[in-house]
Amino acid sequence: MERQKKQATGFSAPREKIAREVVIPEAITIQELAHRMAERAVDIIKFLMKQGQMHKINDVIDADTAELIAEDFGHKVKRVSEADVEEGLSGGEDPEDTLKPRPPVVTVMGHVDHGKTSILDAIRKTKVTSGEAGGITQHIGAYQVETENGRITFLDTPGHEAFTSMRARGAKATDIVVLVVAADDGVKPQTVEAINHAKAAEVPVIVAINKIDKPEADANRARTELMQHEVFVESMGGDALDVEVSALTGQGLPELLEAISLQSEMMELKANPGRNAEGLVVEAKLDRGRGPVATVLVQRGTLKVGNVVVAGAAWGKVRALIDDTGKNVVSAGPSFPVEVLGFNGVPDAGDMLVAVDSEARAREVAEYRQRKRREAKGVSMRRASLEQMMSQMKEGELKEFPILIKADVQGSAEAIVQALEKLGNDEVRARVVHYGVGGVSESDVQLAAATGAVILGFNVRANKQARDAAEREGIEVRYYNIIYDLVDDMKQAMSGLLAPELRETHMGNAEILEVFNISKVGKIAGCKVTEGSVERGAGVRLIRDSVVIHEGRLSTLKRFKDEVKSVSAGQECGMAFENWQDLKVGDVIECYRVEEIKRSL
Ligand code: GDP
Repeated sequence: MERQKKQATGFSAPREKIAREVVIPEAITIQELAHRMAERAVDIIKFLMKQGQMHKINDVIDADTAELIAEDFGHKVKRVSEADVEEGLSGGEDPEDTLKPRPPVVTVMGHVDHGKTSILDAIRKTKVTSGEAGGITQHIGAYQVETENGRITFLDTPGHEAFTSMRARGAKATDIVVLVVAADDGVKPQTVEAINHAKAAEVPVIVAINKIDKPEADANRARTELMQHEVFVESMGGDALDVEVSALTGQGLPELLEAISLQSEMMELKANPGRNAEGLVVEAKLDRGRGPVATVLVQRGTLKVGNVVVAGAAWGKVRALIDDTGKNVVSAGPSFPVEVLGFNGVPDAGDMLVAVDSEARAREVAEYRQRKRREAKGVSMRRASLEQMMSQMKEGELKEFPILIKADVQGSAEAIVQALEKLGNDEVRARVVHYGVGGVSESDVQLAAATGAVILGFNVRANKQARDAAEREGIEVRYYNIIYDLVDDMKQAMSGLLAPELRETHMGNAEILEVFNISKVGKIAGCKVTEGSVERGAGVRLIRDSVVIHEGRLSTLKRFKDEVKSVSAGQECGMAFENWQDLKVGDVIECYRVEEIKRSL
């Protein structure tokens, strides 16, 4: 009939074959594959049958099989992975002519108590954008100030963790780092850390020598100390701008802002405001009244109320944008920090926000990421908790005990490292994968996850992102404030790994006086305990002419007709061995006990 029909309609068989490009995802149903190849599903099923596989039309086959089929049917294959939903999410480079100057984004870093917060507050107080009446300001994680030379955006989340955790995730949040050094204290561990972070991020540094109002202030000492860490300020012949300031009196702050403007002019910072917004989540929280709230620093494009956005695994339609003075705004351009309301969940700090064209797209991406996170969580649950690590090590897989240490000061960190390194022996030893000064950050957690380390915080705590990450990754974070406690804990944890020592104690001897052969039971030795005592269940050796000829256990220990637990010196008893019959008069039976002695470092 088929043939007749074809002839009737003038088709000449075989039909001209059209080779198609068939898109094959990670898994596909036979029906869908047939559809994409414009072939009949039965033909695919037949093909599979020939390969010895029985399938139904709705069965899901994997990409490899699908590719094999498509190629056999003469089609070209294009493999796509699920991750392709991410593709094209953030747009490509903006053409040069769309770029407009944008304000610089500044992060203030430096050692604790050198005045980062004070400087941020002082600048903000004097220079709040458009001088809000009453000066009611909100902490949203970033703010913008207006100066004669244009606007400047400050990331108001001092602490290097925020900076590093964002950088660890590939986000470049900052154009300029203001390095605060107290003139009365000079360069300290976290100053060095800040310098290293800035260098690693290739971000220019402006030095603010703070507390210049103090009588003991010595700005030049700070400058010299900075030189030792390869920060060369202008007055020392280098190119880093430096300003002497006092957050207390306000001295030097206008000059600091000027230096920032100058530096940013040199950098020619630009972005295209006329495109879909892309930005960085600086802070995010679940607000009781307002739901998920994320502070976003727009990096290019313009974010508007009503935009559909994705950030990390959260998405939403922007319900409101609120600036750092608590005012509602309708849009936010490049370098503008705003609170974004309307997310369906709380994104993570460091997540990129992208405005997309449709809710479907936003949902697709967010759901894909959620799925990925869940999967990642499934895998990572087997990571390091102290207990698991010990059992792992007991199996002899590991002899090293990886540890990551964060402390409040360099001195403590180093002391801890030294103490821990002394702990080990040739069976187990501590391996410090990283140590440093500062709170436990998300990147610490990532490092710990990668190395299977336990994180020890000495007088420091993990920030929110780090806590979340640790939970996600199943990493244990322990806190201490006494070095001795920390070392003692680690010592115990590591001692737990040492195989126990077996120690043998001699209990007693007995001599065989007579050997009886009892049917069903076998040979029984009639003995006399000559020293110590003999116990049932203990280990025994049979010694003949001073040579150990057997080692094993007693199956019976009898006094007269009764089974007894032990027999002491001078008494007579009957003994039989488990699985051993060769007993002779005059043999000596030695009884001993094995004790497991816990070892410690
Ligand atoms: P942060 O830990 O770096 O944020 O430091 P803070 O801003 O909290 O400042 C630490 C301490 O130094 C506070 O007690 C401030 O009052 C004080 N401080 C900050 N800046 C100055 C300054 O310019 N002069 C003086 N005398 N004290 C300051």
